[in-house]
Amino acid sequence: MFRGLSLAAKCLLVFSVATTLVVLAAMVAPWIRMTRLIDEGQLEVSRQMVAVWERLGESENSLTGPPSPGRLWNLPAPGIVTTQRAGISARMLTLAEARVDDDPFVRESITFFEARPMEVDRQRASWVGTSREYRYARAVWTTGARGTGRQLAGLIELKRPSISATSQLITNTAYLLLAGAAVLLAALVVFYVITRKLVLAPVGQLRLAAERAREGNLAFRSDIQTGDEFQELSETFNWMVTDLQATQDRLRAINAAMDVKLHELEASNSSLHQAAKLKGEFLASVSHELRTPLNSINGFAELLLEIARGELEQGEPSATLLKRIRYLENILTAGRGLLALINSLLEMARIEAGKVDLRIELVNVRDSCDGLLGLINPLATKKHVTTTLEVADDVPIIRTDHRKLQQIIFNFLSNAVKFSQPLEKTGREPSIVLRAERLPAGGGADSEERVRISVIDNGPGIPKDEQQLIFEKFYQAEGGHTREASGTGLGLAICKDLATLLNAEIQLVSDVGRGSMFSLILPVTLHPPAPPAAASPVEALPANGIAARLAE
Ligand code: ADP
Repeated sequence: MFRGLSLAAKCLLVFSVATTLVVLAAMVAPWIRMTRLIDEGQLEVSRQMVAVWERLGESENSLTGPPSPGRLWNLPAPGIVTTQRAGISARMLTLAEARVDDDPFVRESITFFEARPMEVDRQRASWVGTSREYRYARAVWTTGARGTGRQLAGLIELKRPSISATSQLITNTAYLLLAGAAVLLAALVVFYVITRKLVLAPVGQLRLAAERAREGNLAFRSDIQTGDEFQELSETFNWMVTDLQATQDRLRAINAAMDVKLHELEASNSSLHQAAKLKGEFLASVSHELRTPLNSINGFAELLLEIARGELEQGEPSATLLKRIRYLENILTAGRGLLALINSLLEMARIEAGKVDLRIELVNVRDSCDGLLGLINPLATKKHVTTTLEVADDVPIIRTDHRKLQQIIFNFLSNAVKFSQPLEKTGREPSIVLRAERLPAGGGADSEERVRISVIDNGPGIPKDEQQLIFEKFYQAEGGHTREASGTGLGLAICKDLATLLNAEIQLVSDVGRGSMFSLILPVTLHPPAPPAAASPVEALPANGIAARLAE
């Protein structure tokens, strides 16, 4: 309602409306009293006029003398206005005439006198236009026979406008209004001065201080010395600004410290980058340096083993020969394990360095799975594990990086074989199912058609709390099955990274004692990724994941 008005204007408006109402209310009582006094004075005038008229009437109308007991006055003819001068009219009416008179004031007066025999007269004042008019009625009584029983005989009615009463009323009202206006004006001036000095000036000060603070000048302080709530408010405001300044200083200091840290981070980032580059170079050269002699060691060990086995077949099973074969087998196992670890490390480094290129091609999932089972079957047969292929008829031809897809699934398969437990230990035939199925497009994020390839085994299973951890580098589950089998703990970590490259996800469902299901869910069409960001150089060496696994 008061939107857009200043505080001063609002206060003044509300105060003037309130004061006007108060002054008007205060003037009502004196005005009523004044009007009543004037009307009472006019009642006296009316009485005297009627008395004069009576005397005049006695002579002018040749009345038969003053009223006597038991006799009515000799009244003029009914309804005749006996006197009418200067707008004043007077008449005398008998009781019967008054009762049927047209004038309600006359009829009311008769009723009034009959109800109150002690009353002598009555007056009614009213405004007729701009002039005050008085109606006056006086009862005429007669005494009964032998002086007993006063009876109402009629009334004398006087009607007159009063110029003096009118002017008195108007003048007095004007004075009253003038006095009220003067009081109002004085009150407004006093109020305005007080408001300005006590309220608006401190508010202005506070506003100035707030504006300065908003502009960022936190050194400015409000100085209000009124000793009241405004001073308290001002002091609180000043504390607030002081706190703000302190906080700002602290933030500046933190910012400066963060700048320093940022520079340090930048420096360490660049040294990390350098270190990563060195690590890549180191891995590349070390792997080369390690793999060459390792391949020779493995090769010669294989050769020696072959010779030793040949000697054994020729029928000379001496204790020394058997010992030699055992030692050679140990060398070969250790050498192959070492080669597999080096290959895995190299592969990891290459993926992390973004050095792995995607070669997207059309892949027949059934053929691919069939080929993988063919690769794993020798190992499976060795461990008496049966393998089954289940490829749904509606699995489409997909577009993906075939080599990486095979690497992931082969890793799942080799783990399934590796951790499968023999019939004698579990009481059930160890088996692996390689299953491929089509996942139709769903709503929302699943708007693309996908294919799920799962490796299901009935091996030892993986505890719930380790199901995430096994995808971390070098993590191997706690269970006894891991200790019995060889491995590096890098296989699933590499699978996870490769799956990301294929825009695919890996799901694991496993129950301890019942088996595991590792699934790769990949899109039917893999779109080539955006060009990779610059990464630390790692020499691109051919990773031989499948061969490494086979070597384990
Ligand atoms: P590695 O097989 O070389 O140990 P992985 O990263 O391939 O490394 O696997 C990590 C761990 O996950 C394994 O050590 C094993 O504890 C657990 N694991 C993987 N596959 C299976 C499986 N099919 N059944 C039971 N445990 C498994």
